[in-house]
Amino acid sequence: MGFRELQARYSERCPALALVGNTPLVEVKLFKDEFPELTVYVKVESFNPGGSLKDRSVLYILLSALDRGDLDGGRTIIDSSSGNAGIAYAWIGGALGLAVKLVIPDNASLERKKRILSHGAQIHYTSAQDGYDETLREVRRLVVAQPDAYYFADQYGNEHNWRAHYETTAEEIWQQTGGKVTHFVAGVGTGGTITGVGRRLKELNPRVQIECVVPEAFPGVEGLKPLKDPHDLVPAILDRSVIDRMWDCDVDAAWRMSQRLARAGLFGGQSSGAYLTGVYDLAKTIRRGVIVTILNDIGERYMSTRLWDV
Ligand code: PMP
Repeated sequence: MGFRELQARYSERCPALALVGNTPLVEVKLFKDEFPELTVYVKVESFNPGGSLKDRSVLYILLSALDRGDLDGGRTIIDSSSGNAGIAYAWIGGALGLAVKLVIPDNASLERKKRILSHGAQIHYTSAQDGYDETLREVRRLVVAQPDAYYFADQYGNEHNWRAHYETTAEEIWQQTGGKVTHFVAGVGTGGTITGVGRRLKELNPRVQIECVVPEAFPGVEGLKPLKDPHDLVPAILDRSVIDRMWDCDVDAAWRMSQRLARAGLFGGQSSGAYLTGVYDLAKTIRRGVIVTILNDIGERYMSTRLWDV
């Protein structure tokens, strides 16, 4: 069953689920003076109930698992998350009456921990010193120890992650731009956005270019993988063949761009600024076209970081 069908079916039981997706697309005029023949749009994913793009993937992952009977017998949904997916698992799982356990580094911000707990989910901590990939290794250890107790939702390997963006985000972008989109700019966390949107937009128009923003490894951009470190796990669902070009992104520049976006009325996190730096670098080479990127999550999620020390 497809995303919209499952969403409609389960929204009868749980109406808040109907609020996921169909987010606004808004023009950003930050670069208009420099590039008058260029139009830049951001898809404002902070409008989702969980405040981020991950609501789409997690909704599809959980509803398809429920529908297949994978969650029968009270199994606990388990996954690792840097925050946005964790919040999505927590609110959607909680609303559906499902048990959720999230494995997160112990330095996750207070606003994320409290949000996850508020929806009734459990948190299992790993040491931040062991790096983010340690959360995934810990999930695997827990699942191997008690295979019948858990349903491993596996956002890095679950096909429904990229399919959510293929069936909804890409279709919405196509409709909202009247088919005029020429370039799509995103980064890679799990690879769900770029793989799903990239595949669908290229089917709709093979000339659409898919541009990937890659942040430097340290200090890094929250939610994005640097992809350059050989020790970094490459997400199984990432389809590198949809990516036409890669754009290096400096973390300071990403933060400054998030701050510029805030002053333009769009309050997103660090990765949204990173995507806009990719848009700006691309703009310098193409000078005209219709670029779409994503405002991934809500700026409030970063109050305890230095992002807003302006
Ligand atoms: N930005 C933020 C803030 C995120 O949380 C994520 C997901 N980790 C992304 C961007 C990247 O999305 P995806 O997982 O679809 O690659």
